[in-house]
Amino acid sequence: MYDYLVVGAGLFGAVFAYEANKRGKKCLVIDKRDHIGGNVYTEEIEGIHVHKYGAHIFHTNSKAIWDYVNQFAEFNRFTNSPIANYKGELYNLPFNMNTFNKLWGVVTPDEAKLKIEEQRQAAGITEPRNLEEQAISLVGTDIYEKLIKGYTEKQWGRSAKDLPSFIIKRLPVRFTYDNNYFNDRYQGIPIGGYGAIIEKMLEGIEVKLNVDFFDRKEEWLHSAQKVVYTGMIDQYYDYAYGVLEYRSLQFETKVLHDTANYQGNAVINYTDPETPYTRIIEHKHFDFGTQDKTVITEEYPTEWKPGDEPYYPINDDKNNEIYKKYKALADSEQRTIFGGRLATYKYYDMHQVIGAALTEVNREFGE
Ligand code: FAD
Repeated sequence: MYDYLVVGAGLFGAVFAYEANKRGKKCLVIDKRDHIGGNVYTEEIEGIHVHKYGAHIFHTNSKAIWDYVNQFAEFNRFTNSPIANYKGELYNLPFNMNTFNKLWGVVTPDEAKLKIEEQRQAAGITEPRNLEEQAISLVGTDIYEKLIKGYTEKQWGRSAKDLPSFIIKRLPVRFTYDNNYFNDRYQGIPIGGYGAIIEKMLEGIEVKLNVDFFDRKEEWLHSAQKVVYTGMIDQYYDYAYGVLEYRSLQFETKVLHDTANYQGNAVINYTDPETPYTRIIEHKHFDFGTQDKTVITEEYPTEWKPGDEPYYPINDDKNNEIYKKYKALADSEQRTIFGGRLATYKYYDMHQVIGAALTEVNREFGE
């Protein structure tokens, strides 16, 4: 009999298992995939760490989380500075003085502020009724048309006029010549890939891959004193209150044998509506790779249906109401702990999921 059965070898499950194991608890970790790491998994192709489930850049403002994750790996100095490609015109992201200079030829922050203010006023929107109006009221028409509209519509599969304004609460606008996407103090990519972190966390812990909890749910539930469940919460309850919806992604990965450097940057967003993908990732640039080949991945947002890989929860009123019902059931469980992005129906960055797992550990072990 195990103390804990951990369902899911992603970050949440791995942190929990590591901490429980450290406290002398006997754990078994199962995952239905053929690898550990969940969505942070990197696969090595041609000596390049390929981010199999989308670009993953670790960033946090918390020294405690940064120190925690650095126990398991050394991080490189990668700084995320994506570029937007709008019909062949290239702009720096996030929106900053480099972007404004390219768009309007403005040189000083005051000139840029004036330009944005003029466009906001010209649009005359006081109460934004949808995402388009919200974005224009925040940053004006030019940035919206060239850098937000096409990307957002592809991301959500709907016109920006039909998307709720709350999706964009604010848009980071920076009046310095600084292309660093994140404002956080700490940022980087683990040297050796994310897999190495998870491997270290799970060292000395029994792990079974290609095992789906639902194939033998009752048996698994009785294999341990307690279960830490990081799969989809609606599936755990057999969809009793309905299906929680997601937005999905498809990744097309190509090995380019004839070029060592395809696009000169790790992440390029395609912000026009015609290009079917939202971005191209060139993985070697996350690690400053010098291989003579390169690997790129096109990222296509797609509709999700049950059975597809769930990526982004659709946290609208309808789904949030359904989730609340499942959460009430989960809260009454004595032997199952629900954690991670799928079991709490919430988008988490990596540092947040580590933080959530450590909070759960403290609660569980009364610390
Ligand atoms: P997961 O990694 O999904 O782990 C859950 C595991 O449970 C999976 O391995 C799954 O196979 C397993 N499982 C599910 N059901 C079952 C079952 N029935 N039986 C057995 N096993 C099961 N975060 C950042 O900080 N920076 C980024 O740049 C970043 N980029 C991202 C890009 C994309 C496209 C996406 C989608 C996410 C990104 N994230 C990023 C977020 C990051 O991926 C998550 O924070 C993290 O993966 C969450 O870990 P988790 O353990 O909650 O979930």
